[in-house]
Amino acid sequence: MENRLFIFLFFIVFSFSFCNNNHSDNKNADSDSIFMNKDSLSDLKKSDSLEKTEKQIEPVHYKDSDMVDITEFSEHIVLDIHYARKDNFLNMVLYPCAKCLLRYEVLQDLLLAEAEFESMGLFLKVYDCYRPLRVQKLMWKKIPKPGLVANPATGSRHNRGSAVDVSLVDSKGKELDFGSCFDDFSAKGKTFYPNLPDTVKKNRMLLRSIMQKHNFKGINSEWWHFTHNCGTKYPVSDAEFNCDTLPIP
Ligand SMILES: [Zn+2]
Repeated sequence: MENRLFIFLFFIVFSFSFCNNNHSDNKNADSDSIFMNKDSLSDLKKSDSLEKTEKQIEPVHYKDSDMVDITEFSEHIVLDIHYARKDNFLNMVLYPCAKCLLRYEVLQDLLLAEAEFESMGLFLKVYDCYRPLRVQKLMWKKIPKPGLVANPATGSRHNRGSAVDVSLVDSKGKELDFGSCFDDFSAKGKTFYPNLPDTVKKNRMLLRSIMQKHNFKGINSEWWHFTHNCGTKYPVSDAEFNCDTLPIP
């Protein structure tokens, strides 16, 4: 009887041990397959990123007329594209994405202005750059006043990719005091409005003088608006923002 009991107990222990080992082996197998997947994915990612890097270092030769995305050229540019949101004078989302596109020639001069501001510890913030003609038509419908909104019949320099609306921020991202918001069409938005604190006047003149030095002309009706000296060299465009790829036709 005792022998039978011993054999029975031995069989139970052996079976348990065997099952346990099997279970453990399965666990290891699962773990291995996870690591394999991770490694494989990692290898794939590595080769993918290598491929991208190789593509990125291919030299790109832009024409002056090419419309380019400023974020591809400037690390510090601050985008505050109101027309890609509802907080603008039309209270409508006008752009499908927040982008600052400019003609390559215009961008080159803006980068020089940016570098000069950065040497003073200041950074450019852009409110608007290229603007499709359809958006100009909507703006004109709301405010048909030349001097405030350009008539779409002739088109704005923004429609040509040769105008920018800009301000300045400090190294902490705080905007300098310009005395009014972007697109403030009241007297306070006029560049030389006299009833403003000296700091505001000084900031406006700093912005204007550096921009002018780099081929941008300020206007009297909006302190934030600057047109590039290329004038009407480039045609008015109604090309829509392409939010996936950089250049637009
Ligand atoms: Zn403007």
